[in-house]
Amino acid sequence: MTVDPLPNTNTARPAFFLDRDGTLNIDHDYVHKPEEWDWVPGVPEALQKIQQAGYLIIVITNQSGVARGKFSLSQVHRLHRYADRDLERYGVKINGWYIAPWHPDFHKNKDPELLAERKPGTALFERAAKEHRIDFSRSFMVGDKATDLKPALQLGIEPYLVVSRFMNAKLKGWAQTNKVPVLKDLPQVVNKLQL
Ligand SMILES: [Mg+2]
Repeated sequence: MTVDPLPNTNTARPAFFLDRDGTLNIDHDYVHKPEEWDWVPGVPEALQKIQQAGYLIIVITNQSGVARGKFSLSQVHRLHRYADRDLERYGVKINGWYIAPWHPDFHKNKDPELLAERKPGTALFERAAKEHRIDFSRSFMVGDKATDLKPALQLGIEPYLVVSRFMNAKLKGWAQTNKVPVLKDLPQVVNKLQL
């Protein structure tokens, strides 16, 4: 029998993984400027409750607009800094923004590992878990599309689908088949979990 000489005091933490467009901010299509950033009502306050309940906050976002040449990756970073500054008013800190700027239609010869960063790939979830020592089994994922929640189902993260303009009968059916609860928005998820 081997005994670990150092007690493991650095235990893994639970996290809220969050999609960006349609979950945090209203999806106006290829949002990339601060003036296009509109919080879904109640989201900053919901993030505050999530953080106060001891969860890390990790955003995982596909930004194919970069691949499509609609905007640059540095514009995406600038937008996230803007959101970070806005959240300072609420004392909220996003622990990690993970961006997948690749798209298979535009990056045919790209390293498949990089293409796998795009949801429904699990690569960015796994990188975040490694970088922040996250326990998937005590974590949640909230998003407005099936592609957001497929990786959660695969990794054993509890999924919640929220309603955006992408909600339709097919998506509702998918959620039902996969036993993914559907709620109006992130504040409702936080209420349901009584955070
Ligand atoms: Mg979305």
